[in-house]
Amino acid sequence: MDIRMQCGGVVLMAVLLYFYLRQKRISLDTEKVFFRALLVTFVCIILDIFSILALDYRSRLPELLVRFICKSYLVTLMGVAYCGLLYVCVDIYKKKNYRKNVRKYKLAALAGMILIYFLPMEYRFAADQTTVIYTYGASVYTTYLFAVGFLIVNFFLMKKEKNKINPARREAVQLWMTIWIASSLIQLFNSNLLIVGFMSAIGTAIVYLKLENPETNLDRQSGMFNHGALIQYGRQLFGREQAFSVLTLSLEEPLHKSMRADRTGAADMEMLEFLLHVPDAFIFKNTENEILFVFEDQEKAGEQVRLVSQRFQSGWGKDGQFYVKHCWIYMADAGIVNNVDDMLDLIQCIRQDSAGFAKNSLIVADQARAEKMYQMKKTERLLAEAIEKDRVEVFYQPIFSTRENRFTCAEALVRIRDESGNIVPPGAFIEVAEQNGAILKLGEMIFEKVCRMIGERDIRRYGLHYLEINLSVVQCASEHLFKDYIQIMEKYGIAAEQINLEITESASLDAKAVLLQNMEKMIAHGVRFSLDDFGTGQSNLNYIMDMPVDIVKFDMDMTSSYFKNSKAKYIMDNAIRMIHGMGLEIVSEGVETEEQYQTMKSLGISYIQGYYFSKPLSQEEFWQFIEERNGRLKKAAEPGQSVDFTRSIILPPNVKTASGMVPK
Ligand code: C2E
Ligand code: MG
Ligand code: MG
Repeated sequence: MDIRMQCGGVVLMAVLLYFYLRQKRISLDTEKVFFRALLVTFVCIILDIFSILALDYRSRLPELLVRFICKSYLVTLMGVAYCGLLYVCVDIYKKKNYRKNVRKYKLAALAGMILIYFLPMEYRFAADQTTVIYTYGASVYTTYLFAVGFLIVNFFLMKKEKNKINPARREAVQLWMTIWIASSLIQLFNSNLLIVGFMSAIGTAIVYLKLENPETNLDRQSGMFNHGALIQYGRQLFGREQAFSVLTLSLEEPLHKSMRADRTGAADMEMLEFLLHVPDAFIFKNTENEILFVFEDQEKAGEQVRLVSQRFQSGWGKDGQFYVKHCWIYMADAGIVNNVDDMLDLIQCIRQDSAGFAKNSLIVADQARAEKMYQMKKTERLLAEAIEKDRVEVFYQPIFSTRENRFTCAEALVRIRDESGNIVPPGAFIEVAEQNGAILKLGEMIFEKVCRMIGERDIRRYGLHYLEINLSVVQCASEHLFKDYIQIMEKYGIAAEQINLEITESASLDAKAVLLQNMEKMIAHGVRFSLDDFGTGQSNLNYIMDMPVDIVKFDMDMTSSYFKNSKAKYIMDNAIRMIHGMGLEIVSEGVETEEQYQTMKSLGISYIQGYYFSKPLSQEEFWQFIEERNGRLKKAAEPGQSVDFTRSIILPPNVKTASGMVPK
């Protein structure tokens, strides 16, 4: 019989095995099962050839050996279908359930094997009565029965557990099995065409190329495992609920550029060599700046962490004069997070909010940090939902003008509502929104809501000149800000003078440059700016000099510190003098008591904001408040009456208020 097809299959399988075995691999469960499938297919094709030869040379060989070879071939044929099923099960069942769930298939395969070996097998002879064309009988039918059974279960599982299987794996396995079934059917009805072996090899090659080529798990530049491999491996470890430790080397510069100063590249090579040979760890290049060492043995991890981080304290290259800016993040127990995505998020969070690079420090990722990250994720979800479902509200805090003796403006302060309708204050989400960029959308929503309100109500009729709206530093660094905000103001037909934007000190010089451009364009349009949070370290005197602001807002702490000690008093007196000297106005925030109010007023501060007058109010409450307080202004204009606008009390003629205010 013709064995050329089978020989082609053997060559193909040998090539696959050669490439597979010489590659560096992480010990993924799918990898192990695939390797088994590869071996079984290889053996199956070889046995196919042997069985053909054994049948051809039947007369010269012991009958038992011929039957054994033929039946072994049948067993491996069923084995291919069985391996295909296991390969899908690895994805479906987590490690602890895997064994339990595949036990029944294992037993079935064992039963199949025993039956194939012990049931009878007949030969179909050609016309010459000596050449065997094919084998048949109970043993052969059992093979088909079991193989088809495994295939049916496999297809059934792939359909039922669709969401648990990697779609690429499902597709590859379906193709592999379909090729296999089609070739078996062709061979069944065309006994001269021995294509099953070769087509099995093709099917396995498809899976290899699509999914199991270990090279796809490698980062070509560094030779480490790549991000995709990290995700698969991490999923496997978390799936098994296996304890492990992770050490992250976070580099300030990308790995291959980390030692720019060394033009020879020797220092980079030395470091790479060192990293690649850290013992007891699988090494992954997660990003260009991040290398992860995964230790399955937590005890060994501690020791390695010490040694590896110590090595980085000295330099690289000849004479060790090249250093890299880096920081270490060590998670002694990865069990503090739920899955590999959270693990990478935690590393990312720590990296973002640590100044570790400056000190080349080692930061421990502990339970507290993990909880903080989960809280942040919760806030992110809350925020995203609030933005999507428009559960964003703007509250307004009235601001009193000591010169005009009434409320002349208000600060817009954002709130969001959670799904139960509870109000969430900005302190709980602004930072997160700034970190994940949601502030851009949120800021625009707030601005639009305020503009809509100004457009709907003629705020000037109520004695209000403008509304103050906070701008986050992230928004300030956006090059679209000017265009977007002007567009919104035009949409609602608002005079730019009715808007005052509050800024704080930007961290980076680049952001400051963009902010200045935005400010200049908006100022040309008529918008005015305030410097918020003065006295918190977020804004200082230098910043006032650089920024074209009209108003400086004293932070609550600054206001209250005036009453605490004489030094603070001295600083504040001088700051007020300097700010006034620059021709700017001051708003004093967080004024809560009569004493604070009187003192701020006596210091010549033009605007007072704080609980003394009102907390931030919902839009409805705010208008009620303003109508009540500023509304009386008109009535008070009646001759002979004066008004205490701080309390909205109409006073008898010629009586000064307790605070000494006399209406205009
Ligand atoms: P901020 O801009 O300095 O706003 C003043 C904060 O002080 C407000 O807190 C206000 O309710 C509070 N406050 C005012 N008077 C008193 C007082 O007498 N006593 C006390 N204890 N607190 C007083 P809120 O609304 O929780 O906002 C906190 C911060 O969140 C704001 O500080 C601002 O930085 C940020 N924020 C609020 N709304 C927005 C917004 O729409 N966009 C952006 N980017 N940030 C916002
Ligand atoms: Mg503010
Ligand atoms: Mg403030």
